[in-house]
Amino acid sequence: MNNLGEKARLHLAHADLTVRRHPKTFSAIVTAVLTLSGVTAFGVAPLSMVDSTPKNVQMVIESVSPEGLAEQAEALADYEMLLHRSDLTRSTDTADSLLRRLGVSDPEASAFLRKNPVARTILSGRPGKMLRAVTESTPGGGELQELIVRSPASDAARVGSHFTRVTVRRTEQGLTALSEQVPMKIETRGGAATVTSTLFAATDEARMPDNITGQMAGMFENDVDFRKDIRPGDSFAVVYETMTADGEPVTWTGAAGRVLAGRFIHGKDTHEAVWFQEPGKKGEYYNLKGQGKQKAFMASPLAFSRVTSGFAMRFHPILQTWRAHLGVDLGAPMGTPVHTVGNGVVSFSGVQNGYGNVVVVTHSGGRETVYAHLSRIDVNKGATVTQGALIGAVGATGWATGPHLHFEFKVKGTQVDPTQIARASEASELSGPARVRFDQQSRQLHAQLLDSIRPVGKLARVE
Ligand SMILES: [Zn+2]
Repeated sequence: MNNLGEKARLHLAHADLTVRRHPKTFSAIVTAVLTLSGVTAFGVAPLSMVDSTPKNVQMVIESVSPEGLAEQAEALADYEMLLHRSDLTRSTDTADSLLRRLGVSDPEASAFLRKNPVARTILSGRPGKMLRAVTESTPGGGELQELIVRSPASDAARVGSHFTRVTVRRTEQGLTALSEQVPMKIETRGGAATVTSTLFAATDEARMPDNITGQMAGMFENDVDFRKDIRPGDSFAVVYETMTADGEPVTWTGAAGRVLAGRFIHGKDTHEAVWFQEPGKKGEYYNLKGQGKQKAFMASPLAFSRVTSGFAMRFHPILQTWRAHLGVDLGAPMGTPVHTVGNGVVSFSGVQNGYGNVVVVTHSGGRETVYAHLSRIDVNKGATVTQGALIGAVGATGWATGPHLHFEFKVKGTQVDPTQIARASEASELSGPARVRFDQQSRQLHAQLLDSIRPVGKLARVE
């Protein structure tokens, strides 16, 4: 025990120095130190973010019995030798740039990634593959010991259930490469954080996939304006299902899980919702009173995402002279999908002066929505559309200088505020046996949700 303490102290002193000289080694060392002192870290920020020195590093920590100290000390000794780094492949990656980003300086490994038929697949196909490298901790980059790359299953029919694992490993005979198809697992995870700058900075901190953030914004879209109204101090918690590959949440599309429960605290208001599916019916989100969160109208035709959240419109004289301008302008990149906010029938689809490519949808009760400046139209006049249906894509046709969606909501020909309409529109409410089942399920989910917001322990910070 004394011996271990001694080792730990030595290691900490070493970690200090290392961190000062090489900030990138921070994550690996913190993990090791936390393990040694009898806690497990949950939600250590990925290395790419450690570089940007998060202001509010939060770790949910939890005590475990201090067993196997000798093994931990041994593992710690290994950490002094080896570094683990994670990243994603990029479309611009070459064997060299990829290895450099992972802290590898190894011409042999670089040549192996270019020439070995199995290893070459790492750099082919779609980017966004999950990388994990083990190297020696040599200043300026070490020799590659192991590289594990996880990507979607090679067989399209198995993309939802399996992943491809390519392992490059240094053996006594040199580098080897192996490709396997491995089943993914479904896990329930919790994520919670407080906003200090932007929502996505906070969700990154909580290691939430963007798809989960999008779902959270969707479930509370009638309570909070996620595009404009997120403030420092707002906080959130979610419980979600995620597909994992070797215990790591899968980040590629097509394998994202569902948010089961969520809470968003915005200013003084606390909003909570849980997922519930009645047998034989479509599932949806409900508040804890059993009232559906999904309304007859959605507040926005654009799904909230990392790109739409920060995409500001550039105003231009053309827009200022468009006198008839009424409605809401939503800045978004060219090609962003546009969805109808409610069930209805397409009453116009085509080109109109200032509007450019425009779709008009007529809904029940004399209500009408207009989607203008589209780069592409995906529906024909007369088509029946359901809420959320894809009707086109953001563009800059008509009197627009930059890509944005011009959106109008009219009730009996008069312009109204779409968010107010969405908020006030009809929702479903559970009753009878469904309500009893809902109460049971929601109690459990709510407990899990509160569990994911456990008090945060000592902040792990390295200055
Ligand atoms: Zn407009």
